[in-house]
Parts: sequence; structure tokens; C-alpha cells
Amino acid sequence: MRHIAIIGSGPAGYYTAEAAQKQWGDDVRVDIFDRLPVPYGLIRTGVAPDHQSIKGVSRRYEQTALSDNVRFVGNVTIGEDVSIDELRDLYDAVVLATGAPRDRGLDLPGDHLRGVYGSAAFVGWYNGHPEFAALDPDLSGETAVVIGMGNVALDVARILSKTREEFAGSDIVGHALDALAGSKIRRIVVLGRRGPHQIMMTPKELGELGHLARATPRVDPADLPDIAEDALLEPGLRKSVTHLRNFAEHGEDAPADIAVEFDFFAAPRGLLGQGRVEAIEVERTRIEAGRAVGTGEFYEIPASLVVACIGYRTAPIPGVPFDERAGRFANDEGRILPGLYCVGWARRGPSGTIGTNRPDGFAVIEKIAEDMPAFAHNQGRAGFDALAAARGIDVVTFRDWKRIEEAEAARAREGAPREKFVDVAEMIRARG
Ligand code: NAP
Repeated sequence: MRHIAIIGSGPAGYYTAEAAQKQWGDDVRVDIFDRLPVPYGLIRTGVAPDHQSIKGVSRRYEQTALSDNVRFVGNVTIGEDVSIDELRDLYDAVVLATGAPRDRGLDLPGDHLRGVYGSAAFVGWYNGHPEFAALDPDLSGETAVVIGMGNVALDVARILSKTREEFAGSDIVGHALDALAGSKIRRIVVLGRRGPHQIMMTPKELGELGHLARATPRVDPADLPDIAEDALLEPGLRKSVTHLRNFAEHGEDAPADIAVEFDFFAAPRGLLGQGRVEAIEVERTRIEAGRAVGTGEFYEIPASLVVACIGYRTAPIPGVPFDERAGRFANDEGRILPGLYCVGWARRGPSGTIGTNRPDGFAVIEKIAEDMPAFAHNQGRAGFDALAAARGIDVVTFRDWKRIEEAEAARAREGAPREKFVDVAEMIRARG
């Protein structure tokens, strides 16, 4: 029998468990740990609440979760309730699938001001992550600036733009729905330090911005490169740039209660304000060898809300080697130390789609299979259960989660799939 502990119950965690089952069948026992009492990581608290079809992938993880040899062990924080070394003693292999839950810092003067958030915090707020549910961003100003030209920036700009009616069928949490319904934001500036040919936004997600009830995307035609140059782009990016061209053609005349303005060649240089943010200082850039270089021309955009969507970092765990520069665990193709591995964003950083994590999960299991003969046969889950009992750790099981899930569905507003609990104690109470 092989005993595997996976830390993190998001996509990378569940694909790794699926791969372990395929590799060893009945000869493996997998425990999937999560610090929250609820599973699925970014599927629950990262994927936008108005993208329910993407969240449907959790049904596949549930199949894995319900098989006899896989267990969900929720409400256990590795590094606090139990150490990595203890887990390494108990299991044959420990796989860190902890994602990248921390914001990359802007590292600009004024980035500590109130009203300046990273996307982990802001997305966590509208998605009901217990850590960020109390964020309470001030939406009473007229202008918001979203920094970055990736899909997270698009999510944030779209969520800030939608009417209450457009959230029908979503699982946006009640506190965010109410706050957004009262929002006074009428101008959203999406700031990119490089140009239209360097955006990270994918076509389907960017196209959505052109179909909002009261918001219109605006692109300055002068920012767009010669159309002949689009032919050199890879097909996905070319489609995204075509959306930008459409926005440039139609944006100016289209009526808009809310304007979503793309500001290209614009690098943030500082946040200005007394106690809370009042403006962002920006430097015009030009592209040299693919990089944004400042031109020395500065301007300010008045803003009362700034959301930096510039990427994420993995949270370090005591005793696990960490690559500070890259913001993830130090690893060689998933291997960290003997018996200790990482997978998904914790291995490669925050890139790719949910599906990218599947081959990643299979690859790390292959590495473990190669290394396995060198491992002792450890106690696995029986050993963990003894330790949890001795320490009084209140483990939340998958059956408990199903009760929490039922309770969330039962209290959903009409047409919504669920109203999430946003507080760990509430979640635990809801398991009955
Ligand atoms: P991302 O795609 O890497 O985009 C980050 C953006 O931030 C880039 O435009 C980058 O510009 C910019 N940036 C980085 N550092 C900056 C700085 N210091 N100042 C100004 N701009 C800066 O990251 P993401 O949007 O966080 O997305 C993470 C991953 O999740 C991606 O793979 C994304 O596709 C995925 N995701 C997918 C969906 C979906 O499919 N619906 C939704 C959300 C997220 P440069 O290019 O110049 O560095």
C-alpha cells in the first residue's frame, strides 16, 4: 500500500489524486488536506462567480473524492496543526498543491494606502474567501483602476461593471452583490504596461466585455499596431487583438453608463493620497525588445479604488525550500526533497488554465512512482488520525462538506446555485 498526502484540494490536488488512482488502483490511499473546511480551492474562490460552467469541473473532482481510497481532510493547516516533517514521516509521499494564494506585491510608493488591493484579496472578497470576506472595499468613488492585462484583470473589470440582474445565476456572495449594486464607479481604467500585442487576455473572456448591459469597452485606435502585424501573432492572441480592434471601432459612439478604458503603454509608478488612495501616477512606456521602457512622460489618473491583477505567489511553508524570486517552492520538475513534491501553481507559478493542472498531476505521480522503491512503507492515514485525535484537530470530512454544500444551496437567493458561508466557524456549524 502506498500512502500519499496531497496538500490543497484545488484542481492540482484533485488531478494528482486522480493520477494516483490511475497509477496504483486499490494499492494507494490518498489524503487530500485543505486548511478550509470546504474543497476545490480556486474553483470555489478564484473562478469568477458569473462563470458557473467553468466551476462545473468540480463534479469531476467529486468523483475522485467519493472513491474509497481518496479522503478529504478539511480544516487542517499544514505548518500549524501538523508540520511538513510529521507528514513526511507518516506518508510515503507528500505533494504540495497549495497554489499561489498570495498577491505579488506592486512594490510602489503608496501601495499600502487604503483602497489599494491585490487581486487575491479583491477576488477573494467577491467570491467569499473567509480570509478576505471582510475587505469591504469603498465603491463610492467614480473611477477604479485595474492594473494588468490578464484574465484576472478582465474578471475584476467585468464584476465591477455588471448590474445586479447580470449576476442572476451566479454565486457571487450576498455582501459583494449588495456592495456592487450600490457602486458609484462609472469609469474603469485597465492599465497595461505594454501594448495590445502583449496582452495575456484570452479571446473568449475578452469578448465577454463587449456584451455587458451598461458597460462599454473603449480602446484608443492610435494604440493599435498596423493590422498587417496581427498576422504574426499566435491564433489565440490574434483573436484577442481582433476584439480590441472591434472595441476601438465601436466604443466611442456606444452608450455607456460605465466606460471600461484600456490604457496601453502605461506603467504604474506610485499611488497618491492621504491615508487612502486618491490617484495613481503612471508613466508612458514604449516597447524595446519586448519590454516596457519608461519614456519620462508622467500623468495621474484620479482613482478611489486600485486593484492590482499582476500575478500571485505561493505561500511559504516552514521547512520547505522556497524560491523567493519566482514566488514558488524550489523544485526540480516537482521534486523538492525526498518524499516531498509540488504540483500546479505551487510548482510552476500562476499560469495556464485549470486543465493545465491535469498533465501536471500525472507528471508528479510519475516522478513519485519512479522514486517509490526508495520509500519506507509508512503508516499513512491511520497515523494521521492518531495524531489528529491526540491534538484535538477538528477534521472536516467530505461527508461534512456535502452537508455544508446542502446548507449553502438551501439558503441561496432565487436562481443562484448557492449562498456561500464566508466564515470558517459558520461552515463548521453548517455540517450539523
Ligand atoms: P497574467 O495572465 O500573468 O497577467 C498578469 C498581467 O499583469 C500582465 O498583463 C502583466 O504584464 C501585468 N503585470 C505584471 N507585473 C506588473 C507590474 N509590476 N506592473 C504592471 N503590470 C504588471 O496573470 P493573471 O491575470 O493573474 O492570471 C493568472 C492565470 O490564471 C493565467 O494563466 C490566466 O489565464 C488564468 N485565469 C484564467 C481565467 C479564465 O480562463 N477565465 C480567469 C482568471 C485567470 P506583462 O505581460 O507586461 O508582464
